[in-house]
Parts: sequence; structure tokens; C-alpha cells
Amino acid sequence: MTTTIEAFTGPLAGYRRVVIKIGSALLVEGRGTLKRGWMESVAADVARLRAGGAGVLLVSSGAIAMGRGVLKLPKGKLKLEDSQAAAAVGQIALAKAWAEVLGDHGITAGQILLTLGDTEERRRYLNGRATIGKLLKLGAVPVINENDTVATTEIRYGDNDRLAARVAAMMSADLLVLLSDIDGLYTAPPQVDPNATLIPVIDRITPEIEAMAGGAASELSRGGMKTKIDAGKIATVAGTAMIIASGKVAAPLSRVDVGGPHSLFRAEATPVTARKAWIAGHIEAPGVLTIDAGAVRALKQGRSLLPPGVTRVDGDFHRGDTVIVVDEAGIELARGLVAYDAVDARRIRGQNSTVIENILGAPGRTEMIHRDDLVLKGDLGD
Ligand code: GLU
Repeated sequence: MTTTIEAFTGPLAGYRRVVIKIGSALLVEGRGTLKRGWMESVAADVARLRAGGAGVLLVSSGAIAMGRGVLKLPKGKLKLEDSQAAAAVGQIALAKAWAEVLGDHGITAGQILLTLGDTEERRRYLNGRATIGKLLKLGAVPVINENDTVATTEIRYGDNDRLAARVAAMMSADLLVLLSDIDGLYTAPPQVDPNATLIPVIDRITPEIEAMAGGAASELSRGGMKTKIDAGKIATVAGTAMIIASGKVAAPLSRVDVGGPHSLFRAEATPVTARKAWIAGHIEAPGVLTIDAGAVRALKQGRSLLPPGVTRVDGDFHRGDTVIVVDEAGIELARGLVAYDAVDARRIRGQNSTVIENILGAPGRTEMIHRDDLVLKGDLGD
């Protein structure tokens, strides 16, 4: 390649670490053909980000869409085992194509396939973070997808919007770009409401913003606007700004940089610590603890949740799982890593520590959720 690559100078200038999520509909056409020319234009955009000093990660969908065409699977919703087989076939082609188009710019790609457990379990999360961090340090571009061949319905992300946000938070990226088939977040679904307008900047994801996303799912993308807003919550809490922009044009990032349409979700000014962002961003929360008014006050003062304040335990969870904490009216107050299995939590709820030792037959932890493992909704800006 002889052309010199110039760094961005507009809205995309100055970022240090950028995650770009690319939806299936942008990558695959017809019966499983990759849009190679478009991928080349994205690779050039990646080179421009890197020329400005940013480390770049790609979260690329398209494995299933690609593989189903190659395997001549029927149209419509696929059975789980068919989509797993399709992903196995599609992922090879997808990774190869990214390696080649990035390679044209002298950029090395490294494939990472993640399952839900890799981001939800602390030890695996830390391992994944170390590997991806190493790749970035070595100057490579991690090309990430969900490991769809082994993911089953119960334990999968299913959409790459939230996966990309989880990765962005995990890697302390300062920007997440979701490239999709829509220019950004509209006040109402633009297909049905001609008066819908694009919202250029979202300072905070309020219930009103969430309501706007409600019905805006597009047929082509699996996630639709709802999972994009969920992704925004995971990202912004962790200090990562998020941009939604259309990828239906060549060089979509260059277009944003010269002022093309997009929605920017600003990062929280005071992001919670990486550990708390990890807790808050959990996709799965298998249990719910209901707490009394006294415990609500204690939590708001930054204290731990103790067993006497817990009035009800729902769900089936293990020690270390993320649970949701609600008040007596069922309003979510916090999320945290619970110190007891559900069975024990039920036995000791409402009890004080002297009784607990008798119940459990051994001294247990004093806290149901330690304050270091607890993230209040207030901390999340909503
Ligand atoms: N992981 C899926 C794939 O590669 C895509 C999920 C999504 O559409 O967000 O085909």
C-alpha cells in the first residue's frame, strides 16, 4: 500500500483505546459472501485510528450469517445446532478475511473467541483481559466474536452489542463504536415515525432514553436498539464513551470523523472502579435479595449488606454470583457478589451473627454482600 494513512482530526481524534463492533448485516451479503471492499475500507479506518495512537479491537459478527449461506441452511430462524455449525464454518472465513484486509496495512490480527463465562467468572475474566492486553501491547488487533460453536442458549450473549461493551469495559477502552444499519438513536423508530430525529449526544441513559430504544429493533441485526442501550449502560458506567453510527457506507469511521451522523453516549465523569464496573455489567444475575428499610439506609451510607436486613431470598445462586438487591417495593437498589449459596442465604436471612453460627454449624462471613462487592444504582448514575 502506497497511500499514507492520516490520523483522524475530528470527533474520533484523541482516543487511546477503541473497540469497534461490526454487525452481521454489514459484512455478509447474498448466500454467504463477505463484503470484501467494505471490510477493506474499515481496515483503512482502523489504520487511521492507530495512526492517531489508539489501540484498536474489533468485535466482528457475521460467523453465523456467513456459514449458513455456505452450508445452504434454510432461511428463517436457525435451530441452535445449525447456528453452531454455521458459526464453525463462517468464523474461519471471517477471521481469514480480517487478517488479510488488516494485513494490507501491515497490521497483525489475532482471533479471540469468548463465551459468556469468560466475562462473568472473575478468574476467566482476568485471564481473558491479560491475553487481549498482551495482543494490544504487541501491536496486534484482536478480532473478537462470541464462541458460538460451544455457546448454548442458556449461557450465551447472543448479541455482540453487549459482548463488545463488556470487552470495552474489561479493557478500559475509552471509546466503543457500534456500527449498525442505523445512523444512531432516534427519538422514535424512524421507519414508522417520519418526525423522528437523531439524538446527537446522550449525556446520561435515563428511563426516557431507554423508552426511545424500546421499539426500534431492526430486522437485520439481532440486537436492535435495546441491546445497544444495554451496551451503553455497561460501557458508560465503566468510563467508556459509546458511538452508534451507520456502517452502511464505505469507511464508516471516516464519515463520523468529518461530522457524519451519529449518536455519542458520554462516559460517566467518575466511572466506578474496574472491579465494580465488572460487577455492574454482569449479564446474568441468578438471584434477588429483598432488604428492609434499615438495610436500605445502611447501603446508601456505603455500608455492607448484613443478613439481618435481608427479608427475602429468591433464585438459585452460588457464593460469588451476582445478585440484585431490591427494596420491599421491588425497586432495584444495587448489585453485588453474594457471600453465601442460596440455600444458606435463606437459612440466615433476618438473623444476627450469633444465631448464624448455630444455624450454619460454623462461623460464616458477617456480610451477605461486602461493601467492596456492592455497586449501588446511585453509583451508576441512575
Ligand atoms: N456471534 C454472532 C455471529 O458471529 C453474531 C451475534 C450478533 O448478531 O450480534 O454470527
